[in-house]
Amino acid sequence: MKIQTSLFVSSNTTYKNCPNTAKPEFAFIGRSNVGKSSLINTLLQRKQLAKVSKTPGKTQLINHFLVNNKIYFVDLPGYGWAQVAHAQKIKWKKMVHNYLLHREQLVVVFLLIDSKIPPQAIDLSFIDWLKEHQVYFAIIFTKTDRKDKIKSQKHYTALVRLLEKNGATIPDIFFASAHDKLGIEDILSYIQALAAKNS
Ligand code: GDP
Repeated sequence: MKIQTSLFVSSNTTYKNCPNTAKPEFAFIGRSNVGKSSLINTLLQRKQLAKVSKTPGKTQLINHFLVNNKIYFVDLPGYGWAQVAHAQKIKWKKMVHNYLLHREQLVVVFLLIDSKIPPQAIDLSFIDWLKEHQVYFAIIFTKTDRKDKIKSQKHYTALVRLLEKNGATIPDIFFASAHDKLGIEDILSYIQALAAKNS
């Protein structure tokens, strides 16, 4: 998929107020600091676009970006902030879970996992939740830079082992480095194929 245009459209607290169109949506989620903004910017060939969602007050919102006037990229609020109050966590859960469960335009959610660290309990429990609720998802291993190939391979193997232990089918998994611009074409082709099926 060639990116021709990308545009920040809106930030919302509930899926009900998200753009009222039938355009297919591709969502991105992960622990804070996983590299989500960097990846979205790299996929869209923009320097600062996903930074919109990092401006104060917008980090905990559902952010829509219109791509090629055909599909939406949706930047969902990250989880795992160390110093977030309990009430804020409950709010996050409600917003994100409701979006994932009820947004009919959602085609796939990309769960971003940091390849620089071993699999984290919070990621594994989010995977369990997605499976339990039959939300279609794919995994993107972020920060798989050329120079860290061995380390990310080790963490990938550990993750797959843990998923297999659960006896579930392994989702589609991509490797991406925003810094080295690796894996970008694979993800865009995957999105294009799914968008064609869902248009
Ligand atoms: P977000 O909080 O998930 O949106 O993450 P950011 O995109 O802001 O990135 C968090 C940190 O990870 C920043 O210091 C980035 O420079 C770094 N980062 C993002 N992508 C990559 C990558 O591909 N490789 C490496 N080595 N670091 C990255």
